[in-house]
Amino acid sequence: MTKIKFATVWLAGCSGCHMSFLDLDEWLLELANYVDVVYSPVGCDLKEYPEGVDICLVEGGVANEDNLELIRKVRARTKTLVSFGDCAVTANVPAMRNILKGADPVLQRGYIELADLKPQLPHEPGIVPELLDKVLPVHEVVPVDIFMPGCPPDAPRIKATIEPLLRGEKPKMEGREMIKFG
Ligand code: SF4
Repeated sequence: MTKIKFATVWLAGCSGCHMSFLDLDEWLLELANYVDVVYSPVGCDLKEYPEGVDICLVEGGVANEDNLELIRKVRARTKTLVSFGDCAVTANVPAMRNILKGADPVLQRGYIELADLKPQLPHEPGIVPELLDKVLPVHEVVPVDIFMPGCPPDAPRIKATIEPLLRGEKPKMEGREMIKFG
């Protein structure tokens, strides 16, 4: 049997959605019968997002240049892209900084005004990714195939989304159990 190439990606999120994915517990062993995990912060150490991925769950909003580069690559190399959790679907918590209207005011607030010791802006170009002026939900950057809200989506919702995809079917994202935010 040819296994499905499966990936998960962590953009600007708290990793709570990935923790919820791990709450699938023993079902993860069943999932392993059907998928090869080809890229993920959980249990996979590949640095480069590969070509020809079948399904990818994307956690988090798009907040910096690294996120932007990665999500464009993910979209170009993935058949079915799932916005995984409220931060991916709406930008949610990371977007709270949007109220400050720009990357510079955010850095000023975080590293200068609120510093207790040695206020200084992050420097060393190439090490700290540049912040975007606004945190964006994934679908404002690239097309998304399936939206799975939740902060985080619980394990039954994640399973109910993935299972049909394994059969080549689109999950029914409707009803409180599947699309309630928060
Ligand atoms: S949706 Fe909630 S749990 Fe998931 S990354 Fe965002 S804040 Fe964390």
